[in-house]
Amino acid sequence: MTIFRSQSSEVRIQLVLFSVLCFLSSVFCGCQKEQLYKDSRIMMGTFVEVISPDKRGAAIAFAEMERIDNLLSKYNPESEMSRLNKVGELKVSAETLYILRRAKEFWLLSDGAFDVSVGPLADLWGFTDKQYRSPDTEEIKKALARVGMDKIVFNDKDSVVKFSVQGMRIDLGAIAKGYAVDCAVKKLKAAGIRSCLINAGGQIYALGDRFGRGWKIAIRNPRSQGFTDYLTLKDKAVATSGDYEQYFFHRHKRYAHIFNPKTGYPADSGLVSVTVIAPDGLTSDALATSIFVLGKDKGEKLAKKFSGTKVKIIEEKSSGY
Ligand code: ADP
Ligand code: MG
Repeated sequence: MTIFRSQSSEVRIQLVLFSVLCFLSSVFCGCQKEQLYKDSRIMMGTFVEVISPDKRGAAIAFAEMERIDNLLSKYNPESEMSRLNKVGELKVSAETLYILRRAKEFWLLSDGAFDVSVGPLADLWGFTDKQYRSPDTEEIKKALARVGMDKIVFNDKDSVVKFSVQGMRIDLGAIAKGYAVDCAVKKLKAAGIRSCLINAGGQIYALGDRFGRGWKIAIRNPRSQGFTDYLTLKDKAVATSGDYEQYFFHRHKRYAHIFNPKTGYPADSGLVSVTVIAPDGLTSDALATSIFVLGKDKGEKLAKKFSGTKVKIIEEKSSGY
């Protein structure tokens, strides 16, 4: 018998909330000099938290992240991405073209492991509507015919993006949060804010420091309670990709939401989680997902191509499960 076990979106939000804990001994402590303002929202499909000594920080960051979400989310029918997915050809904004070009850069560098055209696979395996299922090989083959960044044509002159195969769908879930956080950081800097921590469901940016010390972040243990790592960050992004937030079990095997675009199956590279520290959010986001698909050796090789990055990998064999 097939048993599907999945996490509800509510549970997922809770897990994300605890996946990275920020130590805030002095939030609203009443101490005039070291007061931090904290606000949170559900957006971009996750729990987003902003902490800053500047009262304006959260509003500025949320407004910018919402703007990016409205442009790129596949769940918003009005977004450029949804319109492109619907009609297969669209004149897009410079910003959308930029993010697609960056996605293609990661596709090339990762030898196709990072591929934002995995939309048909996410739909087929039920990750889009959270109705998880294990498809047969014929269905996977059919979906794979509609996957591949080589099947997306970019026309730089008129900013038109076109799918060369019908039924393709772009899913920017592995890069959009990182980009959104970068855009929010730009707006914060433009407003003169020099200290802020953004945590968009585990996609983090630590702007400046926290009263002269770095921002302290704890990385959750993916297979049990507690934390595996503690980081102190300043002007750095962190992202974690793993198999422990969106997954289901089928015949005692875990299937998670990151796909190997070569096989059409959820990635099976022996990794439980990949944490990437990078100078910017987009790099940390896309690189963590790429490494999760590639596995330890190829993944670490890829990371070496990006200066200023650090990678922490937890392998299945070492996780005790
Ligand atoms: P999350 O954003 O959930 O923390 P990731 O950044 O690793 O985790 O992104 C995972 C999401 O990326 C999936 O939910 C799916 O939308 C998309 N995705 C899945 N497989 C790939 C892949 N091989 N390349 C690019 N995007 C992918
Ligand atoms: Mg990612």
